[in-house]
Amino acid sequence: MRGKRGGGHAGRPGVRKAVRCGARSSGDLAETVRFHGHMCPGLVIGYRATKEALARLGARRAEDEEIVAIVENDSCSVDAVQWLSGCTFGKGNFFFRDYGKQVFTFALRGSGRAVRVALKPSAFGPPGGPSDGGGRGNRDRGPGGGGQGRAFRPEEREAITRRLLKAPAEELFDIRETRISLPPKAVIHESVVCERCGEAAMATRIVRKRGRAYCIPCTLKRGARQGRWGG
Ligand SMILES: [Zn+2]
Ligand SMILES: [Zn+2]
Repeated sequence: MRGKRGGGHAGRPGVRKAVRCGARSSGDLAETVRFHGHMCPGLVIGYRATKEALARLGARRAEDEEIVAIVENDSCSVDAVQWLSGCTFGKGNFFFRDYGKQVFTFALRGSGRAVRVALKPSAFGPPGGPSDGGGRGNRDRGPGGGGQGRAFRPEEREAITRRLLKAPAEELFDIRETRISLPPKAVIHESVVCERCGEAAMATRIVRKRGRAYCIPCTLKRGARQGRWGG
């Protein structure tokens, strides 16, 4: 079983021109939309941020763990990050910090070089203007989404999306080269069978109680185990 040491908490011509360079072919926007399921401002934020960072790092989509991405929200944008950078939840080179910020850091494992891309508050256009999206590209879903703003009207949404696609990256983002201490690589852990439910769990997630081994859900109270998020 694979796990993360340390817990891991740790077809528009204008568009193509604006976002040329970086990871993938010119059809990558369409591919990103297909992966995510729909086109939206948040997705475009992640798309632009990732393209810009990979271009600055001179990097291509990670096949294994050669690139690391640290994202500071769990909104639509991070689907573009995963699709374009090859940094994915499952590979262990994608780290989520629950800060509710449209900030993305990409680092190369080889050199330790990193680029931090932070969405500017002005990215949606002048305050009160037609593109002033109160939602700030965040999905309205709990603290991770950070979407405390009002919902976009469809025409606002379109205007914002267009702006996010076409504006020069420097207008949308604060971008700087940096160095970070890299999160550890994903490692393989053995599995241990829980003595209550009989299911296997990664050894680092096993809870020992009175000499017995249990998976985490089996140590939770019944209500928590069968909470509204399932499990
Ligand atoms: Zn979306
Ligand atoms: Zn169990």
